[in-house]
Amino acid sequence: MNLEKIVASLNPCPCGRTHTFDTKVVEIGSGITVRTGDILREAGFQDRILLVADRNTLRAADGVLESLTNAHFTVKQLIYEDLKSACVEQVREIEALCADVDGVISVGTGSLNDVCRVAAYEMKKLLCIFATAPSMDGFASDTAPIIENNFKSSWQAAQPAVIIGDTKILVKAPAILKSSGFGDMMAKYIGLVDWKIAHLLIDEYYCENVAAITQEATDRIASLADRILEDSEEAAGAVMEALIMTGLAMKLAGCSRPASGAEHVVSHYLECHKVIQGIWPDYHGRKVGVATVYCNRLYRNLAERLEEIHCTKDTTDWDAVYAHYDEKMHADVKRLNTPTITDLVDPAKLEAAWPEIRKIIFETLPTQEKLLDLMHTAGAPVEPSEVHVSDAFMMDAMQYHGYMRYRLLLTRLLPMMGIKMEDYL
Ligand SMILES: [Zn+2]
Ligand SMILES: [Zn+2]
Repeated sequence: MNLEKIVASLNPCPCGRTHTFDTKVVEIGSGITVRTGDILREAGFQDRILLVADRNTLRAADGVLESLTNAHFTVKQLIYEDLKSACVEQVREIEALCADVDGVISVGTGSLNDVCRVAAYEMKKLLCIFATAPSMDGFASDTAPIIENNFKSSWQAAQPAVIIGDTKILVKAPAILKSSGFGDMMAKYIGLVDWKIAHLLIDEYYCENVAAITQEATDRIASLADRILEDSEEAAGAVMEALIMTGLAMKLAGCSRPASGAEHVVSHYLECHKVIQGIWPDYHGRKVGVATVYCNRLYRNLAERLEEIHCTKDTTDWDAVYAHYDEKMHADVKRLNTPTITDLVDPAKLEAAWPEIRKIIFETLPTQEKLLDLMHTAGAPVEPSEVHVSDAFMMDAMQYHGYMRYRLLLTRLLPMMGIKMEDYL
């Protein structure tokens, strides 16, 4: 992937920002595991390195340790049994091991990358992500979702200097992880709508060139829907590349807007509530995919059925909001809603902007039929029951997720529009 060319093509940008990223090398190719050590040396990694993996990912990445040893690295290892959630405890554990190394290599995907990215940022260490599955889009991101006190929020993280994806390994990833990556990518359509709406209503920063990168990567993945589960290194490599591009887009924009909207917050709501009950919340991209199906249906229905809207100040029933969050989460919910994001939205402006919002929805989102077809083709779940969530729990998530963030989402505007969500789902 020619990173210099991407950055050069963006600058100067009409959005007014100079776009940069810290990632120096992205290598995706067949059988490149044996070159891992050399790639790291070329990227400036010094002798002592901490390798973080779990038993499954280390097995999948057969040959990586040998390659590091051959390139004369001294490798310290932290191998988890099976790391399924990214919690602050693991971040601290990695940080403690980081003190006497020069760099970190995270072998795996998802939570394993998240904890390493935050630890590397806080300890100022060079980071390499060696991806073992095309299961989510956080590889190149500079933020990571971390759970602390049962509350999941976005932490500042290191953008990896190096990302390696051996297509021989990626293609062997379990189908459940591949379709998870697909669901995470379809979410970008909703993310782009929410970003454009926030720009329109509260003048939030927006860059059309960065949005175009996400759009292109997402369209490319959509066109590969029927090849996601195929045993094809070429398809696995293309998916990996698109997942990395949306991560880079986040860094280029300096926020997660290009890659996530209401659907990611819905997924975080489900996750937080499950974690509190001690239940493993399922793979990120699977929940996000189901939430995307719900948000797409809601957004398309609103745009199709409402030619005009009549708005008031936010009519949120705050007692109902708090009743939907565990007491342990109340302080965070209060902090994120004092002030609350809709304070910035003028009801008259929202009314006047509705035709433009409808246009954004029609232009950006696939029809519900098309989305469902793509998800089925790629083997991605579309029903809450497929990710172990009841219909009622999903409905709660749709109604109350918006209070977990100080962030404008179309879902969060419904209490200003006098709309009952269930009528449009
Ligand atoms: Zn720009
Ligand atoms: Zn995601």
